[in-house]
Amino acid sequence: MKAFTLARVIPLVPIDVDDAAEHTLRAPAVKPNELPLRDTRLRPLRDLRISVTDRCNFRCVYCMPKEVFGKDYAFLPRRELLSFEEIERIARAFVGLGVEKIRLTGGEPLLRKDLEYLVELLARLRTPRGEDVELTLTTNGSLLSRKAQSLLDAGLKRITVSLDSIDEAVFQRMNGVGFPAALVMEGIDAALRVGLAPVKVNMVVKRGVNDTQILPMARHFRGTGVEVRFIEFMDVGASNGWNMKSVVPSSEIVRRIDAVFPLVRTGREKPSDTSVRFRYADDQGKIGVISSVSQPFCGDCTRLRLSADGQLFTCLFASRGLDIRKPLRNGCADDALRQLIADLWTRRADRYSEQRDESSITLDQSKVEMSFIGG
Ligand code: SAM
Ligand code: SF4
Ligand code: SF4
Repeated sequence: MKAFTLARVIPLVPIDVDDAAEHTLRAPAVKPNELPLRDTRLRPLRDLRISVTDRCNFRCVYCMPKEVFGKDYAFLPRRELLSFEEIERIARAFVGLGVEKIRLTGGEPLLRKDLEYLVELLARLRTPRGEDVELTLTTNGSLLSRKAQSLLDAGLKRITVSLDSIDEAVFQRMNGVGFPAALVMEGIDAALRVGLAPVKVNMVVKRGVNDTQILPMARHFRGTGVEVRFIEFMDVGASNGWNMKSVVPSSEIVRRIDAVFPLVRTGREKPSDTSVRFRYADDQGKIGVISSVSQPFCGDCTRLRLSADGQLFTCLFASRGLDIRKPLRNGCADDALRQLIADLWTRRADRYSEQRDESSITLDQSKVEMSFIGG
């Protein structure tokens, strides 16, 4: 495989925010028979990922390396962040447009004060058919042992915890701040104990850094009800020093586990799922692999991301987003808000991961960071 060192960018279709807001203030509302919204590649809008903060207490080597995200790094000032009420209003517009799943993320979402209140607001949302929205959260788990119960009480049903190794030395090196794996595992236990279900664990695999941990992680969580999702190290952002040699393809991950614990492929549960599932042949649970690099799944990508300062990104690898905070704070009506989103989605053509190998892509260093728009 070819080694890449430069970041690549698929620019979003540019929409001038002021023009867009002006236009949508006059535009007719999206009609129910126009739902679900489909982009230029006929992909429906189904998933919204909401970053509630760009800050994090970890400095994972593949996401916020401490050499880049040092003490002088300029994080968003408080006033730039969307309030919980603003987030709820935007989320409600999305749900009205066909979104069925919302994931809270960050940065580290549990660092945002009173996050439970936002969970409460979002848990009340219903789809146009009156169904619950699937509400979940991705966390590094550092605060989870104290927060699992209050998150459940607020209406969270499921949770994903990131854990890249059960070996203390490997994990502490990887998270960049020496945070103990044992405390994250306490968080996972707390989530299971209070009844968040399913509990999933994300492990980003980086060759030469934690690939020796693939089997220990599989062994540790087999039979516990926790599904480990092994994620290929991605070239998100412009600061994690990504190169192809550091990627362990999912096929290799599956081979390594299957050699010890035989696996049966069960595939994707929904076409838009990021992970392909396998079950242990002896019925000791499931694992998933997320092959963003080796087997891209842009063709079924139904995800849109909202940054903590109110920008909409139609691809994880975008360089810029559409500011929705400005029209919102300028008094934009609900219909206009929905139209703004509809205009953005129906013009969407992103397929970065599929194009990674295509030489025609513009080289660019300005891709937005994963910690800014969330995973
Ligand atoms: N801080 C929370 C956490 O770590 O779970 C939520 C935000 S984090 C950006 C969301 C997910 O993205 C995590 O599971 C993380 O491991 C994953 N991630 C971050 N950088 C990545 C990269 N370069 N390649 C693949 N996954 C990455
Ligand atoms: Fe923080 Fe999550 Fe990024 Fe790690 S992956 S640095 S925990 S935002
Ligand atoms: Fe979706 Fe962009 Fe990732 Fe492709 S590269 S799966 S379009 S977020």
